[in-house]
Amino acid sequence: LSCKASLEVVHDSLSGSAVHGLSETVVGVLGGGQLGRMLCEAASQMAIKVIVLDPMENCPASALAHQHVVGSYDDSATVEEFGKRCGVLTVEIEHVDVATLEKLEQQGVDCQPKASTIRIIQDKYLQKVHFSRHGIPLPKFMQIDNLESARRAGDMFGYPLMIKSRRLAYDGRGNAVAKSEEQLASAVNALGGYDRGLYVEQWAPFVKELSVIVARGRDNSIACYPAVETIHRDNICHIVKSPANVSWKIMKLATDVAQRAVSSLEGAGVFAVELFLTEDGQILLNEVAPRPHNSGHHTIEACFTSQYEQHLRAVTGLPLGDPSMKTPAAVMYNILGEDDGEPGFLLANQLIGRALGIPGASIHWYDKPEMRRQRKMGHITIVGSSMGVVEAQLKVMLNEDSVNDQ
Ligand code: ATP
Ligand code: MG
Ligand code: MG
Repeated sequence: LSCKASLEVVHDSLSGSAVHGLSETVVGVLGGGQLGRMLCEAASQMAIKVIVLDPMENCPASALAHQHVVGSYDDSATVEEFGKRCGVLTVEIEHVDVATLEKLEQQGVDCQPKASTIRIIQDKYLQKVHFSRHGIPLPKFMQIDNLESARRAGDMFGYPLMIKSRRLAYDGRGNAVAKSEEQLASAVNALGGYDRGLYVEQWAPFVKELSVIVARGRDNSIACYPAVETIHRDNICHIVKSPANVSWKIMKLATDVAQRAVSSLEGAGVFAVELFLTEDGQILLNEVAPRPHNSGHHTIEACFTSQYEQHLRAVTGLPLGDPSMKTPAAVMYNILGEDDGEPGFLLANQLIGRALGIPGASIHWYDKPEMRRQRKMGHITIVGSSMGVVEAQLKVMLNEDSVNDQ
């Protein structure tokens, strides 16, 4: 059974390094994508040791982690052995082997947030059931098992109807829209059929999408970041504006709903709460991520404590930092692959070339081994004295003028 007695390790500076960082706890992170990479950057500033588990040898976090263990965060034996090496075990992705996290917790391994939280969140349908039980406002939803139940949902909720896969969803992969009853079958097929585990949501007629990042410390202290507006392109987060341009009342309502949602989950860390703002001023919950999030990238340059530093403070038991903005406005632009391979790199390079000349712009490149269309390759945050100023800078960066707005 112990065939995985030793895990393959690349990049190891753990054993030789000094003991005294801001925290002596070794933080283990399941996942080594861009979020893991930025966690490592924040950890480096505080000399906190981070070890990362990711199957890809050249994953974005690999070069920056104290240790990168090459292996799957979805493999039971691997997660178990990795977990035992950590002072605290956390995640940068929720699609991990949660049964093993539960087992590790029973054996005394410290998981933050708790395995129970990951279990609820990694199944979007369970997540919706959980939040509706806790009185959090959200779009109506229903599980579907066959065409008949899908039709029934369509009759009840109307069209367009949002069909979602319960598991393994990210960047909108796992969502399909049926505009009418006739499109139900093809939408379900596009998601891989009913066996994949599907449910439907009533269409949320939102005027804006907002996100609030809530941090909870080990002592249950709470820190909320100012609500931001997120703008999606093809279901993928594309632009984030901070703060959101909404009334004080909406700001407060969004923060309130986010805080209540997070209060219903267990464990320390940062949580991103994605929200819909409807025309009549309602706030509905879309989903929660139990980890740092794309809607919080700007906090690196725009807030006193970035979401990454905050997450490390939270899970290691340090006091939470100040989430407020130190600059009046910020806009974050995701560099999404425009094309596969070299043509994609060329376009990204042109954008970065322009960004290098923009005052207030900071460029983050994740160093992913391969360029793919729609893949998140990096991001650029522009900070400035007002939203008008940073939006104008964004336009310059995107080479947009009044006649050409794409
Ligand atoms: P993420 O990358 O944020 O994890 P995801 O794959 O989990 O994305 P969702 O957040 O469920 O996908 O949905 C992606 C986007 O699709 C939302 O940000 C929103 O723009 C749109 N969307 C989701 N649910 C609904 C809904 N019920 N009504 C209308 N639009 C929706
Ligand atoms: Mg999601
Ligand atoms: Mg989402």
